[in-house]
Amino acid sequence: MSDNEFDVIVVGGGAAGVACAAHLVQRGVQTLLVSETTEVGHNLRSVIVDGCRATVQHPTWMTTWNGGWWFRLVKELNVAVKFSIDKPFAVRTRSGDPEPIFLPICPSARSLAEVLVSLSPIPVGDAVGEVEKVLEAGLAIPPDKLLEMHDVSIDAWMTEIDASDFARFFITTIVANLMGFSAETIASSLSVFGGFGMIRCFVGFEGLCVSFDPDAREGLLIPIARRIEELGGEIRRGQRVETVLIDDGQVRGIRFADGTEVTSPTVALGVGNHRIAAIVDPLPPEYLPSMSYGEDTLQREFGTCTVLNTPVLPANLEQMMFVIDDDGSNLIWFVPLHSMQPWVTDGRQVIYCELNLSAKKSAEFADNDAIFAHMHDVCEELYPGWKAAIAETKGMEHGHLWTGPMFTGPKMPRDIESIKGLWYGGDSGTPHGIGIEAAMGAGYVTASKILTTRDGSS
Ligand SMILES: Cc1cc2nc3c(=O)[nH]c(=O)nc-3n(C[C@H](O)[C@H](O)[C@H](O)COP(=O)(O)OP(=O)(O)OC[C@H]3O[C@@H](n4cnc5c(N)ncnc54)[C@H](O)[C@@H]3O)c2cc1C
Repeated sequence: MSDNEFDVIVVGGGAAGVACAAHLVQRGVQTLLVSETTEVGHNLRSVIVDGCRATVQHPTWMTTWNGGWWFRLVKELNVAVKFSIDKPFAVRTRSGDPEPIFLPICPSARSLAEVLVSLSPIPVGDAVGEVEKVLEAGLAIPPDKLLEMHDVSIDAWMTEIDASDFARFFITTIVANLMGFSAETIASSLSVFGGFGMIRCFVGFEGLCVSFDPDAREGLLIPIARRIEELGGEIRRGQRVETVLIDDGQVRGIRFADGTEVTSPTVALGVGNHRIAAIVDPLPPEYLPSMSYGEDTLQREFGTCTVLNTPVLPANLEQMMFVIDDDGSNLIWFVPLHSMQPWVTDGRQVIYCELNLSAKKSAEFADNDAIFAHMHDVCEELYPGWKAAIAETKGMEHGHLWTGPMFTGPKMPRDIESIKGLWYGGDSGTPHGIGIEAAMGAGYVTASKILTTRDGSS
């Protein structure tokens, strides 16, 4: 094979692309991974704020869903990855007791129901049994079946199992807070997979949240990338794919922005949804429903990374905490990085906050800076002295709609009739988990499917 000829080209050096390339290389396939940034895992990088390392990603690992994808990959490839397991979440309300409530791990419907109703600002009384009934039904769904229920509305499903009005309201509120979405969005379009995936992974002990040292980029993706190269795979860094070359409905390779062409009968896309149109022209009709879904309905995600000169958050907060607003929706998330990942700080508090807003709600603000200012107002209200303590803060908005697969909308097809050899390996396909786990699962499973059709045709 010449230098510019490969069995498979994987476009995109994020979690999905790296997992896809790694699994292919491990199985002896001549693979080229293209990362437009100078190193893989750009979206999982730390943000440096006043000299501290703010890491914004906490991957979940679905421990009891066949062991999880990134964990499996790391084991199979024998990569020196190390991580610690985060404590279960904490929660507080906007107007109630400012002390965080620390959630225990709850493996059964009964323990989950007991703990979750204890968070309710209104007395629940006997209705705890109604909540338990829904949780029991949701927990009983086998993981494989749950993944397939990405297109079944959780609201419709609750009707089907005869959930009481209170139980529906309650489950919707809990999931809205776990996801940082409004209760309306959850009720209108969240899937059973989205709802119970979140509950089971984050409160039900089926998945664990972990912190890589120093972050998911340097502690997970870069070590896997090194292993890809050790095993004979090639990574081209700092090069952007300009177009996927397609002749007569068959992939022929890619062209880089500098005009260089690389040949392959199989191209796997590990790029975020919103980047596909730039490199696949014309867009195959099979991609259109999923690509247009979510733009208006799903939330925009805003984050602030803040270093405080004096401590303002409670010293005993050592885990992620969501804050329930007075109407039951999610107000904001706090991630106290200084206590969860002590290596990020010089001793000061370093906090990542996240706020999700609907497109409509976000349009009420003049611009993103006004949204970040609003987030600091909320922090000041919850923790007086916040603003005065700020040494530096950085705001960010993330474009990748990674929560899309948890909603009932159309998913990206993995392979398509209209273009042979073109595979979609990103996290907007049918789900394989949540978050980075979902992206790496998507990459891994796509690689497995490619391996079963080695000539790349579907
Ligand atoms: C605010 C926010 C917080 C999150 N927090 C968490 C969390 O705490 N835990 C968790 O598990 N998950 C979290 N996620 C989700 C997680 O980040 C994503 O699921 C995951 O990173 C998606 O990986 P990916 O490889 O599919 O996409 P990306 O990370 O978007 O990777 C795609 C890559 O393709 C590259 N690319 C695009 N076009 C081209 C081209 N033409 N040529 C070459 N390269 C190209 C891009 O540079 C990019 O590196 C969060 C996401 C957001 C937005």
